[in-house]
Amino acid sequence: MALLIIGANVVSNGERLRKTFLKNDSPIFGNAKCLHMQADKAKFAPHFESNTNPQLMDKQVISCLIIGSGPAGYTAAIYASRAGLNPVLYTGPEPGGQLMITNDVENFPGYPDGIMGPQMMEDLRKQSERFGADIRSGMVTSVDFSSSPLKVTVDEEKTFEAATIIISTGASAKWLGIESESRLNGKGVSACAVCDGFFFRGQDVIIVGAGDTACEEATYLSKLCRKVTMLVRRGEMRASTIMQNRVLSTANIEVLWNTETLEILGEDGVEGARVKNIKTGEEQTIVATGFFVAIGHQPNTRIFNGVIDMDENGYILTDKVSTRTNVAGVFACGDAQDHIYRQAITAAGTGCMAALDAERYLASIEH
Ligand code: NDP
Repeated sequence: MALLIIGANVVSNGERLRKTFLKNDSPIFGNAKCLHMQADKAKFAPHFESNTNPQLMDKQVISCLIIGSGPAGYTAAIYASRAGLNPVLYTGPEPGGQLMITNDVENFPGYPDGIMGPQMMEDLRKQSERFGADIRSGMVTSVDFSSSPLKVTVDEEKTFEAATIIISTGASAKWLGIESESRLNGKGVSACAVCDGFFFRGQDVIIVGAGDTACEEATYLSKLCRKVTMLVRRGEMRASTIMQNRVLSTANIEVLWNTETLEILGEDGVEGARVKNIKTGEEQTIVATGFFVAIGHQPNTRIFNGVIDMDENGYILTDKVSTRTNVAGVFACGDAQDHIYRQAITAAGTGCMAALDAERYLASIEH
């Protein structure tokens, strides 16, 4: 296929990328056929001929496709759009991610009075759109990274090709699954002690779980709260010994072993919980104003199974201090690759890194 360019109006910001995409002999952009390019609209990407799914395959190769719309995805979109990468972001099934179910965010720098989680996500979205990010509703349902350009299918029907992909699909907290938990979510029920513990200063709280997260969060809460009651469903904890010891030696943490939650009490806010010892069958009510669930997180990475290298829990592995995955052109940021920090600010930070890594990758193709 010959290279045909009509009216390419080069501007400095996009020149490098434009040249990259127009390389006829590039191994990635093999048969580029650019029919129309407008510098002001910054449509740097070429049009490809494709012989697969002609009805459903979008012909334009997206230079930077971002999957997921939490702080990581939106920050990646801000940086990528300001770098002239024309990012397209698919929001996924929960636009805004976990912060949409968070009330006050008080620990994100720059908001001296705090900000509501949904408001922050709306602001990040608008900020990315201001620089031209194309934010689309839709869920990426499958990917094919076996060749370049990379391919993603949205809502099981439309396939797009992309030169780079930023995965920012986040993670979802696991929940107990009882009715009172969802009803009181955000009204005293939380899955993040670091985010919400501050609201329960000097009060009594309950935490469920027995892994490292639960121990870490119980210890964190013990410094803020009057008393922390930790509900462990078995007679032992899964957490590492050092974390367990920290919990067990903290005076204001009481561990209730073999204990499960029957119901979280309260109408408009948490007032306590009804729990049961599964060995003795004995039930009791614990009075508390906060109920923290710390039974693990599930990274939203299922569609990348077998495609991207992950750890045993499904978190995407990235290369050293970067967001590079094992697939060239694919970058991962936010909670999909971070099981340690899991904060909005760290997710935003790695979103920035992913956009910079994607930009550098595109530049490297040129060379
Ligand atoms: P884990 O999967 O390790 O632990 C989850 C805990 O929740 C288990 O103890 C489990 O109980 C309990 N649980 C699960 N479902 C329920 C339920 N329905 N009711 C009551 N309890 C339940 O998750 P974590 O988030 O704790 O840790 C994830 C990974 O992150 C681990 O590898 C951990 O080591 C790591 N991590 C490391 C940290 C650090 O090094 N600082 C800090 C935090 C996490 P059971 O044991 O009975 O199955």
